[in-house]
Amino acid sequence: MSGNLILVNSRHPLPEGLDVPPDLSVTDGAALRSEAAEALKAVLEHIGAGDRIALVSGWRSREEQEEIYAQSLRDSGPEFTAKYVALPGCSEHQTGLAVDLGLREGEIDFIRPRFPYSGICQSFRLAAPKFGFVERYPAGKEHITGIAHEPWHFRYVGLPHSLIMTESGLTLEEYLGEGSGEA
Ligand SMILES: [Zn+2]
Repeated sequence: MSGNLILVNSRHPLPEGLDVPPDLSVTDGAALRSEAAEALKAVLEHIGAGDRIALVSGWRSREEQEEIYAQSLRDSGPEFTAKYVALPGCSEHQTGLAVDLGLREGEIDFIRPRFPYSGICQSFRLAAPKFGFVERYPAGKEHITGIAHEPWHFRYVGLPHSLIMTESGLTLEEYLGEGSGEA
């Protein structure tokens, strides 16, 4: 149940009892489950990222997700929030297997960090599946994931799943046979 393929989205809230992963490991200010943290470190080392990629957000407690959601509603309104911020209880960040990454340049936007399809960020994106990560919310799959295109959000699913999903262009919902998401 707490395996690397756990699906958390608007139709699949995080199950009771998994609110705090047992093996959180803090790296550069972001907490991830230890296997994911190790894998992330390995990708960053592999591409020679140095300090060019910032870990913007990793594990979040339900309370943190509630705060982020409420603040986004206040600052950016319901339309923006529905696109980019998962409902409390339904955020993948609560699993400790998801991380938002940002190109370290000037001020980093916490909700939508810049992570372009070029340079060191693209190097990360291309190498990530070899280490168990997938780009979780690609363009064109919004109707399946229920989340807008998020170039900065990566999810640890482990090997060989990350390679299969990337090669076949499947989101986690499709890979698990969950079909289409929110109507
Ligand atoms: Zn995220």
